[in-house]
Amino acid sequence: MQGPSSEVFTAFRNLLALDAKGRLTLEGVRTVVIPAAVLVNIEQAARQILGRGWSSIPYLAGETNGREIASIVRGRMGPDAPPEALLRVIADRTELRGLGRVDVSNVDVALGCGVLTMDASPLAESPARGEAYCYLSAGLWAGVISILAGRNVDAKETECRAAGAPRCTFAFEPTPL
Ligand SMILES: [Zn+2]
Repeated sequence: MQGPSSEVFTAFRNLLALDAKGRLTLEGVRTVVIPAAVLVNIEQAARQILGRGWSSIPYLAGETNGREIASIVRGRMGPDAPPEALLRVIADRTELRGLGRVDVSNVDVALGCGVLTMDASPLAESPARGEAYCYLSAGLWAGVISILAGRNVDAKETECRAAGAPRCTFAFEPTPL
């Protein structure tokens, strides 16, 4: 597989803007470019301080972010855009942000179930390896798919690169009523 073409990269760069105060935006949304290690370090700190309950914090933060992203993209593409097309756009943008290649072809968006994979989720690159890690990514996709499906969806990371898998795998199902 090849990475994004230079034309795609150029188009992406054209979505970036820097205002007079030095605030970077991407399609009008405030954005910061930080080393991926910052995310890993925050997760490590949460684990050290909170123990077993730490994972709910990055999951909820990711879910909130995913709901916001999906709402923004749906607002831009209009109410008639198929949810599969919205998910594809969000996955493409996620890849361009450097969060890793995303395969959404096995997600049934209307039913809020299925499986999604990420080839290079940066959260798997933690020094404390050995268990599933990418709660931020799990929450992100749960939030995105919840908005697109019109119902609350849970995500669980079933395989993680942090535990030696070739890619991170997230399974979705509607939240029990
Ligand atoms: Zn992972």
